[in-house]
Formats: sequence, structure tokens, C-alpha cells
Amino acid sequence: MSESTFLQFEDEPDADVPQVAAALDDEVAYSPWRVLVTDDDQDVHETTEFALLGLHILGQPLELLHAYSAEECIQVLKTQKNIAVVLLDVVMETEDAGLKVVERIRNELGLHQLRIVLRTGQPGQTPEFETISQYDINDYKTKSELTRGKLFATLTTAMRSYDQLNRLELSRQGLEKIIQASTRFIADQGMQSFAEGVITQIAGLLGIAPEGVVCASAEHADAGSLQRNTVTVIAAAGNCRHWMDSTLDEIEDAHIVESLNQALKEQKTLVHRQSVTLYFAGNAGSNFAAHIAADIPLREVDRRLLEVFCTNISLCANNVALFNRLHELAYTDSLVRLPNRFASLETLRNRMETGALEGQVLVKFDIDQFAQANETLGHAYGDSLLQALVGRLNAQFGKTCALGRLGGNTFSILGPHRDVTAESVLSVFDAPFETANMTRRLSASIGLVRFDEAMPRSAEEFLEFALVGLKRAKSQGLGRAAWFTRELGNDAKERSSLLQGLHKAVDMSHLFLVFQPKVEVQSERVIGLEALLRWRDESGNMVSPDRFIPVAEQSGLIVAMGLWVLQSAIETLTQLSQAGFDDIQMGVNVSVVQLEHPEFMPEIKRILANSSIKANQLELEITESIAILGVDRVVALLEAIGALGIGLAIDDFGTGFSSLSYIDRLPADRIKIDRSFIKKLDGDPRAARLARLIIPMGHQLGMKVVAEGVETATQLAALKEMGCDEVQGYYYGKPMLYNDLLLWLQEHRHPQTQQQLPAN
Ligand code: C2E
Ligand code: MG
Ligand code: MG
Repeated sequence: MSESTFLQFEDEPDADVPQVAAALDDEVAYSPWRVLVTDDDQDVHETTEFALLGLHILGQPLELLHAYSAEECIQVLKTQKNIAVVLLDVVMETEDAGLKVVERIRNELGLHQLRIVLRTGQPGQTPEFETISQYDINDYKTKSELTRGKLFATLTTAMRSYDQLNRLELSRQGLEKIIQASTRFIADQGMQSFAEGVITQIAGLLGIAPEGVVCASAEHADAGSLQRNTVTVIAAAGNCRHWMDSTLDEIEDAHIVESLNQALKEQKTLVHRQSVTLYFAGNAGSNFAAHIAADIPLREVDRRLLEVFCTNISLCANNVALFNRLHELAYTDSLVRLPNRFASLETLRNRMETGALEGQVLVKFDIDQFAQANETLGHAYGDSLLQALVGRLNAQFGKTCALGRLGGNTFSILGPHRDVTAESVLSVFDAPFETANMTRRLSASIGLVRFDEAMPRSAEEFLEFALVGLKRAKSQGLGRAAWFTRELGNDAKERSSLLQGLHKAVDMSHLFLVFQPKVEVQSERVIGLEALLRWRDESGNMVSPDRFIPVAEQSGLIVAMGLWVLQSAIETLTQLSQAGFDDIQMGVNVSVVQLEHPEFMPEIKRILANSSIKANQLELEITESIAILGVDRVVALLEAIGALGIGLAIDDFGTGFSSLSYIDRLPADRIKIDRSFIKKLDGDPRAARLARLIIPMGHQLGMKVVAEGVETATQLAALKEMGCDEVQGYYYGKPMLYNDLLLWLQEHRHPQTQQQLPAN
């Protein structure tokens, strides 16, 4: 809709309500120009009055006010409004009393529209041009010049410029209000407060009490076939307040109903004697009309301002609609129609500020193995599962709790103790989900935190605490729930400070490698080394890999660290080969996180290609935790590594959830029996059972068996007797720095002649 067609003032056909033009005429008819005559000579007052008697200027009569001194003039101006012109005597109490009054009018009273005509007894008493330009004076006359005719001409000019200045000022104030209104509308977010704003702003603009209604026609309502019951009041003020939310046909005031109806139907703005009904075009077919009771006649300036206002408001209405849409997009998850992460955090923040979190429990939960279901059964199926789950969540918690979707398969529930428990959340997963003709059981890992126990300092921290619980739950397996506790919180804090330190260590190269020999049991030959990562923190203390590796894994930092380890291990192999040890293999520990990383294989290839090291000199040690990737992926990954000629060892064997069917499929070259089993070899011979089982099994599968953590001759003898192929442990050598390793290797170059094995 173009601006020019937007606002058409429509005169009301109803005969007993005077029309606008008439209203304006009326206004003209009864508002006189006020003129203040200031002179210390009573005669001048009388002459002036006589001269102006019965005169109309620009169609309006005159009203004279009188002051007899400079001071009185100022007092009258201070108390009386809308004085258009002052006829001012220059010489009163003093020679220049009148000029001083002029100065005070402009500077002290700030009356800039007021026109001033100076009058003086004798011509040439005050320099004319200078005075006029200095004091913004309309005219300068000698008293003898003020005949009826001259006075009329002078006053007409003065009134015209007063009127223009006044209109300009009113327009300026009005435009200022419109601009203020617009910014306020944009800041307000809802259509309702927008509509309320419209009433207040129009009222403000016209200088009347806010009294009226704003209504909206239903979306896509065809203007021609407007139904009164599809038009609803969306804001109401003053006497009309009780009509809020009513439909048009429920409003008992016939004039209001008719005006609104007509405005909407004809898409026009109507100005009546007692009211104004504005029409605003909304977007998407929904339109607005505002009816304001205006018990004063509208001036021309008001009409023009309303015109600008309507155009502006139409734009604002569309902006508000757009804003709402953007707001919704930004805060609502479009798939399941739940508040998203931002919105959930916002809710937490608001409740925290108002103290409404007391007695509340926050839950953060993940659907277990959801990514796999998504991958194997398709995203559409995954989506329908999520929707079904949200249906259940709404049914179970919707009434008393705030639900949110924090991410892909992560949800939050915030609600009172009695409703939100581990059991109530777990029970959502009791029944299988039947969607898209498939029945599937789901489980979730659930973290819970009580506000009163955790006393978080921020919404983010509260959510962080729920995550601590969730992580604990996950560490216990699938479908588990865990509450946040202070101890868990401290643990998490320690991990986070560890991670910070680790980031620094990586940047500052505070990490280094040590190497531990692997010895062949029968020949006692050194057949390989294991590269082990070390970190000396800023205060010089060694931090155990058992502490920092899990933190690096969780944060993903292990990817960068692991690459550095691989690179350094290969460099060490090159150095060793230059030192004459070229048949040594290097074991490098690799975490699941690294293996899963898409850049892992390309990087390994690149590192090997840039070195003179043969692929089979490198062996990757992988723990059974890799099982979480699922057999098929693990086998595919390990086969790809094997295809490059790189060796593979299953590390810490016996500590994970080893599955025999599983191990059969792994293309590994070695099994490393975990240290915990070797320890037992010293005492109770029955404890050796597992080692006795693993060794022949490894051989059956075509793998070498290595024993880790061999510390004593007794352990070594037992392993030898069982047929264990290789050992690694303090008995032969601790993990060493490169220089110590070189010395150690030189010493052990000819083990048969140099090394005396202790007797069994
Ligand atoms: P792991 O791969 O099983 O390494 C063997 C661990 O046993 C090493 O501990 C080693 O110092 C220790 N050890 C060797 N012989 C003996 C012995 O006779 N007695 C005793 N008590 N301990 C012995 P470390 O160096 O503390 O490493 C612990 C774990 O940290 C490693 O277990 C490995 O899982 C992980 N790790 C170490 N370096 C790296 C690395 O570069 N990358 C990755 N992803 N993990 C690493
Ligand atoms: Mg290892
Ligand atoms: Mg190990």
C-alpha cells in the first residue's frame, strides 16, 4: 500500500455528528488571537482597544490583555498561555525597559513563537534595524504610526508568522513523539503492547486522555466480507478497558463498532467530531484499526501528524510481526516446538533473578545411541522419534515444568522436586516408541541437580551442574540417572582446571615423551618400545597420564596432542635408526577420539610418507574402549590401519568389556595383558588363571601376547612358563627419556652375553 493512499480522511455521513471541516471551522470561530498590550500610558491602551475593536484577523477575533510595566508584562506572559503578539512600549520605567523585556521573553521565558511589535513615542529613539535583528522583533513602529489600518496590517503579518511558527513547533513535537513511539514499538515485543502503545501515542499526540481500543481483523480476512466476530480487540484503555479480547459484535457502543467496522472494511481512516478511527495495514492479511475518543476538535496539524503516524505505525506493525517471527525462530526449536537452548537459559536466568528456582530440580538428559538410530534408520525416522518423545514429555511434565531442547538429542526439564525425579524421567522411556511402523526401545542418560543443594551462581552454572550429573550417569552405562553432588562438582572443577593447564602445556611444549622397552621373553632381545606421554606442570610436578589423558579425551584436545605424539615417536625412530637401532618397533597409544577423527588416517599417512620409517615399525595401541564405536566401525577402521602395514595392539586387555566374539574379528597383531593380572602372578597361583587363558587364546587367533607391568623375576618366570611372547615392565626398564634410552639400548644390544637373568 502506498503512503499516499494509506490515509484518507472520511467524513462521516451521519448528519447529527458534525464533520471535520465544520469542526475546524468551529475551532476557528471560537479561538481568538490573544494580544498583550504593554504600555505605561493608559491612553495608549484605550487607543489600541478602540483601533482594534471588532477586527478579525485571518478569520479570528482578537482578545486584548493589558500590562502597564515591564514587570507586569513578564508576569502576564508567565501566567497566560497562547499569547500571539505583544505590542510593547520601549520606554517605560527606564529608557530601554521594553528592550529588556524582549530579552527576557526570548531568553528567560523561552517564548520563541511569540511575536513582538515594539512601539515608541518618538521616531529615531532607538536604532531600528539593529534592534529588530538583535531581538527577533516582528516590527518597530512609532506610536503615531499605529492607526487602525497600519495596526491591522502589522498584526496580520505578526499573526501569520506566529501561526506558522506554532504549527512548525507542533509538527516538530509531534514528529518527535512519532519517532519516540516507533523506537518504543520496536523495543516492545508483543502485538498487544504494540497496540497499547498505539493508543497512548495517539492520545499523546493529540494531547488527550488515552481512551480507546485497537482491534485486529483475523488473518486473511477479506476486507469485503469482513465478519464482526473475526475482529478482536487487542488493546483497550480508559473507559473502553473492559472490551479487551472482545470481538467487534460484543462491543455495546454502536458508534465505536460502526467506526471500526467501516475503517477496516474500507481501509480508510475516519475523523469524526468526537473521535478518530485510524486504519493500519498489517501484513499477512491481518489489519488493524484504532478508535480513540477525542473530545477536542482536530486541528489541521493533528491531521497531518496522524497521517505520518499511521504510515509509520503500519511499518511498525509489520516490524512487530517480523520481530515476533524472528523471536520465535531464535527461541523455539522448529522440529519439536520446545524452547531451544537460548530460551531455556533465559528461563533459568529469569527464575534465578526472581528467586523462583528454590525447590526446583533441573534435568539434562541425552537419548542413548541416538546418533546410531539416526544414521541407520534415517533422519526422518530420528525426527519422528524425537517428536514422539516430546509428546510423552509434554504429557508427563508439561503442566508443571519448563521443557527445553538444548541440542540434537539433549533435553532439559525444570520443575518442582515432587514432579521431577530420576524415576519420573526414566519412566518416560518404559514403553517402546512406535513411530513410522517401527517399534523401538529408547533409553536415556539422565543428569539431575537440585537448585537448593547446588546453589549455582548463574543459569549457565546450573546447567553445567546438570551436565556433571549427566556425565556421571553416562560413565555408569546406558539408561542411568545420576544426581549432581558437591563432590562431583569439585571433581568437575578440578578437571576443568586440569584442562586449562593442559592447554597451556600444549602451547608451551611442556609435554614430552618417554620410552619403555618391550623385550622378547625367549631371546631377551629388545623388540620394541612404547612411547608414553609425560606432562610436567608449571609448578614442576609430574601429572599422571591416567589423570590428564581422560581430560584431554573429553575435551578433544587429545587429537592435537596425539598427532604430536605420533610425529615425535616417528622422529625418535629415525634418530634411533641413525644411531644403529633400525629394527625397533614403536608402540603409540591412540584414543578412540583420535581414531574417530576424519583427519586421523590422512595425517598418519602424511607423517609416514615424510619419514624414512617403514609402516610396520609403527604399532598403534588401542584399548577395548573402542568397542563403543560398534563392531563394524571398529573392524573397518582397524582394517584400514592394517592395510597401511601399521601394527595394531589391543592394550590393557582384560579390563574392558572384552567379548570373545568381538576379539576374533579384530585384525590385531598383539594382545597386551593388563598389569593388574600380572601383579597377581606373584602370589596366589590361582590368580594366574586369566593369564593362562589369554596367552593360548591370543596364539590361536594368530596374535603375539605381551605382558605389561612385569616387575619381578617370579612374574617373568611364570609368564615364560605360560608361553608369553613378550614382556614390558620395570623389571627390564622403566619409561626413559631419549638419552637414557640410548644408553640403555647400547647396554642391552647383546642381551645373551651382557644381561644376567636372575635365577627363577
Ligand atoms: P598403557 O598404555 O597401558 O601404558 C602402560 C602404563 O604402565 C604406563 O603408565 C607405564 O608407565 C606403566 N608401567 C610400565 N611398566 C610398569 C611396571 O613394571 N610397573 C608399574 N607399576 N607400571 C608400569 P603411564 O605412562 O602412566 O600411562 C598410563 C596410561 O596413559 C597408558 O597406559 C596409556 O593408556 C595412557 N597414555 C600414555 N601416553 C599416552 C599417549 O601418548 N596417548 C594416549 N592416547 N594415551 C597415553
Ligand atoms: Mg599402551
Ligand atoms: Mg596398558
